Amino acid sequence: MPRERLYLFDTTLRDGAQMNGVDFTLQDKLAIAGMLDDLGVDYIEGGYPGANPADTELFSKDRNLSGTFTAFGMTRRPGRSTSNDPGLAALLDAKSDAICFVAKSWDYHVRVALETTLDENLDSIRESVRAAKARGREVLLDCEHFFDGYKANPAYALACAKAAYAEGARWVVLCDTNGGALPDEVEKIVAEVVKHIPGDHVGIHAHNDMELAVANSLAAVRSGARQIQGTLNGLGERCGNANLVSIIPTLKLKSEFAEQFDIGVSEEKLASLVRASRTLDEMLNRAPNRHAPYVGDSAFATKAGIHASAILKDPATYEHVKPEAVGNRRKLLVSDQGGRSNVLAELERIGIAAEKDDPRVARLLEVVKEREAIGYAYEAADASFELLARRTLGTVPNYFDVTQFDVNVEQRINAKGERVTVTMAVVKMKVGEERLISAAEGNGPVNALDLALRKDLGKYQKHIEGLELTDYRVRILNGGTEAITRVLIESRDENGESWTTVGVSPNIIEASFQALMDSIVYKLVKSGAPA
Ligand SMILES: [Zn+2]
Repeated sequence: MPRERLYLFDTTLRDGAQMNGVDFTLQDKLAIAGMLDDLGVDYIEGGYPGANPADTELFSKDRNLSGTFTAFGMTRRPGRSTSNDPGLAALLDAKSDAICFVAKSWDYHVRVALETTLDENLDSIRESVRAAKARGREVLLDCEHFFDGYKANPAYALACAKAAYAEGARWVVLCDTNGGALPDEVEKIVAEVVKHIPGDHVGIHAHNDMELAVANSLAAVRSGARQIQGTLNGLGERCGNANLVSIIPTLKLKSEFAEQFDIGVSEEKLASLVRASRTLDEMLNRAPNRHAPYVGDSAFATKAGIHASAILKDPATYEHVKPEAVGNRRKLLVSDQGGRSNVLAELERIGIAAEKDDPRVARLLEVVKEREAIGYAYEAADASFELLARRTLGTVPNYFDVTQFDVNVEQRINAKGERVTVTMAVVKMKVGEERLISAAEGNGPVNALDLALRKDLGKYQKHIEGLELTDYRVRILNGGTEAITRVLIESRDENGESWTTVGVSPNIIEASFQALMDSIVYKLVKSGAPA
């Protein structure tokens, strides 16, 4: 049986940009649009032309996308004609392949928020769709609050959708704007709608206020909808939109959907999903969610020893899909609950040859357990584990020694009479026969220490030039006066590879120093720096 086409519509640049703290520049928007296009998303919504200078510029450029670049805006305002509405004019003048109108479909909102009549709202939908069609655009209508509207007045909600379809809108999109609908409601209501509008003209736009946006999107598809709207990483206001990063692999890898539908994302592109998700996080300067389905660092991480040894025999035992399919990887956590099989599997992944009964493997396991007992967390710090393993089993060259460091934090009143805090670090080190001393000022003690450590590494400096710290996390263990500090540092290099290192000490500077040192040494090992 030929598979049916299911379309993906991304609204990261419009609805996603509504999220707190998200602010895309024009360059960000172009980069994200390119990434979505490369992934194989059918529709890329750019935003509201005319709403701000960045969006206006975005819609004045040629973007060279193969997907359908879509402008978003309101239907004509009540009481105006389509030729006398500046908002609509900006939308019609924008360089876009498609226009997605938003219109109210809940009678209550039409009366109270729009302060107009139900008939005038229907006229506005018809005339706006007609105007956009006349300008040669593909047209979509987002029916705002469709599910709440349908529950209150099914005939009117349906009339809004039918008005757009009858005028030639390619898609009528049913929106769960408040995110309050349940999957069985969505399934029932969409099933009613597709009796009037063919399912291959019906889309779903779900918000995640009950963590059901993905489930609701799939429920709509089950009832016949053939377009799913969502955002990368589920970005969106309040609790976010339906997460395309979870929806795409589900459609590709779960037989219920994979056997029935084709989507624009190829198997090869599916394997770049982790990268796409992380690239967006980097752009937003956020630490990726470790527990994100499919793409999170922990999505295929198994801890307990008994599960781990079963996984080694057959990965399918504890994994719902193959991690490689989405560009992720299996991770067996080296932890006090794990056993020798975890350690062996990790060594194999890293590329260190070790026999099962090698006494050094037992020693490594012992060291890991001892160190985890005092606060180290190797499952979160892959690079520190790798260094520990290499030191125990092989050789990590002694690239350099830090013979002394000094961090000074000083608060004083400056010449202008302002209270200022100044931080400086001095590091003395030996690189081969060379003795080096570096000093740096930072915005805090750890920053100053980091800058001083990486300022001059003598002959190794060129290997760490592209190294940067991307995340710094501190956790106090035990609490009270006996408190131990655990520092996790995430670093990244010029190749986009990232890794995490750990340090533990009662002193936060010392813990940070350990994690910084591990990060630098790991980078030297990775770049094959000569001893
Ligand atoms: Zn929305």
